[in-house]
Amino acid sequence: MIPQHHDPATPRPSDRPRRRRRTAAALALAVALPLGAAAPAAADANFPSTEGRTNISSILTADDVVRELQKLERTSRYGVDAFTLAEAGMEVSTSEQGRDLWVATVGSGEEHVWLQGRIHGNEPYGTDALLTLLKDLGTNGSAEYELLREKFTFHVIPMYNPDGAEANIRHTVLWDQVSGAPEGGTPQRIDLNRDWTAEGFAADESRAFYEYWTTVDPSWGVDIHHQGLKTEHGTGDDVTLSLGISLAPGGPTLPGLADGAYDRLTRQMNVHVYDELSKYGSINIDRYQVGGSYEIDIKGGVVSAMMLGLDHDGLNPEGHSHPVVFFETSGNSSDGSLGQKARGKSVRQNVLALQELLLGLATGEVQQEDPERWDEIPHAPVTGYQTDYAGVVPVG
Ligand SMILES: [Zn+2]
Repeated sequence: MIPQHHDPATPRPSDRPRRRRRTAAALALAVALPLGAAAPAAADANFPSTEGRTNISSILTADDVVRELQKLERTSRYGVDAFTLAEAGMEVSTSEQGRDLWVATVGSGEEHVWLQGRIHGNEPYGTDALLTLLKDLGTNGSAEYELLREKFTFHVIPMYNPDGAEANIRHTVLWDQVSGAPEGGTPQRIDLNRDWTAEGFAADESRAFYEYWTTVDPSWGVDIHHQGLKTEHGTGDDVTLSLGISLAPGGPTLPGLADGAYDRLTRQMNVHVYDELSKYGSINIDRYQVGGSYEIDIKGGVVSAMMLGLDHDGLNPEGHSHPVVFFETSGNSSDGSLGQKARGKSVRQNVLALQELLLGLATGEVQQEDPERWDEIPHAPVTGYQTDYAGVVPVG
């Protein structure tokens, strides 16, 4: 087993054989989650509330996020830099309602990693998970975190959609900042995760983060969401975390990108997370699906556009693209299905998933996974693809 504390006599992490599974777990337990109990894994995966009792008073606000980012910048040992997109020089740099959009960077590696949360305002724990990871990246002196900072430069976006977060809604609302009211009088809600398209970019948040993305040219990405309550196909067990790829592996689109590399790499990323997290009794993982048995294949999702190498407004003429996966924690704050007691566990499963994925990418373990094992992650037999360009496409 790998020692938890770095011993100068041990080889560097990159020289080591396959990293053992306990390492990231030990890391996770060694840091305090800021928002509640990191309870030891219980044998009960049934943690979202089915009683419609979500107390949203302790869910992080936009101001909370700014305070936490500034604190991390001040107190971190390893150079956390927190800044607004205005400070980064983006042409459009605030939300529809004029809120600052924040990013934090840490690490000095050549490969850049894009980590975003809460693009849907009523899906809160991506924010908590990313702030926890950022704190670890900024303060943890272990060999594993040294490797992460050496290998990667992280771009952490804990709250992509501050307007939606403040309103506890999925969308952002197009806003006239002069009159201080919705544009055109009637609120027009924009799903920011369908807005990175050739005809899209209706919302300021999309233009701002897209321009920033084109300045970063990441190599990898993760997007953190919530879904409704869900049970596992076949067993009926409650699912706590679904692993997703927004352009379906083996589907109409992904196999044609980057000579099939993203079809392979995104499967490997999620297979790795599935393997590493399956030992926790409080975490029950399946594959993200919609409508019972459909895979999603949406081109306007932000992470899809990243894989497609979307060139909007001439900002990505070289068509830079990269693989991205997403995580879906069960429960959200508008249908009242986030059990307050489950908060620590809900956040922690995302932190663990991020740690395992990033360490696996850094050590090369992810790239060694068998992509065909994507089929082993529990899911309903696939009958079609839910698209945003041709309705439901049957499996061919
Ligand atoms: Zn979402």
